[in-house]
Amino acid sequence: MSATYLQLVHSLRQAFPQPVSDRVHDAYFVFSFLRAIDQLDAMKSVSPLLGEPAGLDYEAARKSTVRDAPDSLENVTQLLVEHLSGMFIWGHPRAQINVVPFPTIPSVIGGLLPSIYNPNLVSEESSKQVAVAEVEVSAMTAALIGYDPATAAGLFTFGGTGTLLYGAKLGLEKACPGVRQHGLHERAVILCSDRAHYACVAVANWLGIGQDNVLKVPSTPDNEIRTDLLEQMAREVLSGGGKIACFVATMGTTDHFGIDHLREIVAIRDRLQKEFKLPYRPQIHADAVIGWAWSVFNDYDFDRNPLAFRHRTVRALAGVHRKMQDLRLADSLGIDFHKTGFAPYISSLFLARDACDLELICRKQSETPYLFHEGSYHPGRYTLETSRSGSGPLAALANLRLFGKDGLRSLLGHLVTMAETLRDHLEGHTSTTVVNRGNFGPVTLFRVYPDGVDTFTVKQREQTDPTYRDQLRAHNDYNRQIFQIVQREALAGRGVVISLTDCYRESDYGEPMVALKSYILSPFAEEQYVDAVLESLWRAREEIARG
Ligand SMILES: *Cc1c(COP(=O)(O)O)cnc(C)c1O
Repeated sequence: MSATYLQLVHSLRQAFPQPVSDRVHDAYFVFSFLRAIDQLDAMKSVSPLLGEPAGLDYEAARKSTVRDAPDSLENVTQLLVEHLSGMFIWGHPRAQINVVPFPTIPSVIGGLLPSIYNPNLVSEESSKQVAVAEVEVSAMTAALIGYDPATAAGLFTFGGTGTLLYGAKLGLEKACPGVRQHGLHERAVILCSDRAHYACVAVANWLGIGQDNVLKVPSTPDNEIRTDLLEQMAREVLSGGGKIACFVATMGTTDHFGIDHLREIVAIRDRLQKEFKLPYRPQIHADAVIGWAWSVFNDYDFDRNPLAFRHRTVRALAGVHRKMQDLRLADSLGIDFHKTGFAPYISSLFLARDACDLELICRKQSETPYLFHEGSYHPGRYTLETSRSGSGPLAALANLRLFGKDGLRSLLGHLVTMAETLRDHLEGHTSTTVVNRGNFGPVTLFRVYPDGVDTFTVKQREQTDPTYRDQLRAHNDYNRQIFQIVQREALAGRGVVISLTDCYRESDYGEPMVALKSYILSPFAEEQYVDAVLESLWRAREEIARG
């Protein structure tokens, strides 16, 4: 006999946290979570994976249906845990894969609490102190990067892509007044480097600017936008009667940690505005989703070096700081706490230098604009989203408090020290070459060559010499083979998981160039794991040589 609805309601109540204090039930709640963590812990090993690498069965997944009968909390938990098997453990010292952080415990709790009490950042009525946390984190971060917190404003959104969307939207409203009302009827462009994230293209697409109107400016060998060409391309747009919706300065490119010269981009914008007597000031959005964290070094005393970083690390950090201190010159900024801030997804902050700019995106133009209308906070008036989770701001707040400037400085300094050690070894060896030598972050792109290749000249030839095309292709294949072997070893618990990028840049004659990539983001990184990468590379070279 099946249960009546009332029986089901009664049993399902056990699966909710109790609305009135019930310590016994709290223990059940916490214990259920503890068991999930326990089951996951049992899946850890020396390899940087949870459980075993397993095939993904989409065939079976597509056949799934909702059953009639409810399931128990225990069964459901078990099932969820199983869905994490095969995942990389990003914080494992044998993982140097990508810009994916290992979240801290306080940031996990920051993410978890809102999922229990469910604040909605659409308004302060529905989020109370969590709304205050959003304002607090915005102010803290604004001060960190050098904005005036009294006049800046921030909001959390659905990812780094979301922050770019806000930046470009504000710029489009400035360049083409009334576009929100009447739609876009003229040419507007986004200018960024060819190293910028594809989010620029997505944003142009979704805003109706059009993907063809994303002008990708060639970059230097150090993966920075070529400002001479930027100016030339912007001038051509304006001469042709087009509008500039947005300049995007990438402050830390995804694969290379290239950093655009923001100060120079600002100078170009100001020059062109004057020259063309533009009735608007073209927006400069800094895509700093990766680079923002280096702002903690804005007031670090590199000469005294109180945290006692190595010389080479100081040089690397100071080199980044030199450009990152200009973040405050951007009109708007994108910041991912879920990239270099050790927070769980999603924790992305959009910052506008001038809160008044948000007036441009208020839903009703008649409404008194932005932030604190009649002393209260109504982000739902200008955010694209309606419901917004409190997890992002609380996770970010957790880490900003947990780390303080010195904590984040130390973590970043350690990661860069490890990456510099790797680069030192790779550059010292005759069969490897670092291809993002001028970028001083946690990511290293490099190529490995078989015996007999002159690595002093190969980089130049691959880049510029069209008669070298066949060798370039062969070297690409060689690096793919190396990657396969290193990957196989790493999953077996020997060596380190790194990654492969199919095109870190194109040669001058249009051939994609493959690179191996080490992204060191684990707080547990140590020199022995840098050595393990190198040893794995040498073993892979030998294996290929043996044939
Ligand atoms: C990751 C990344 C993005 C996109 O951010 P998400 O948070 O993944 O949406 C944009 N720009 C750069 C430079 C990135 O590295």
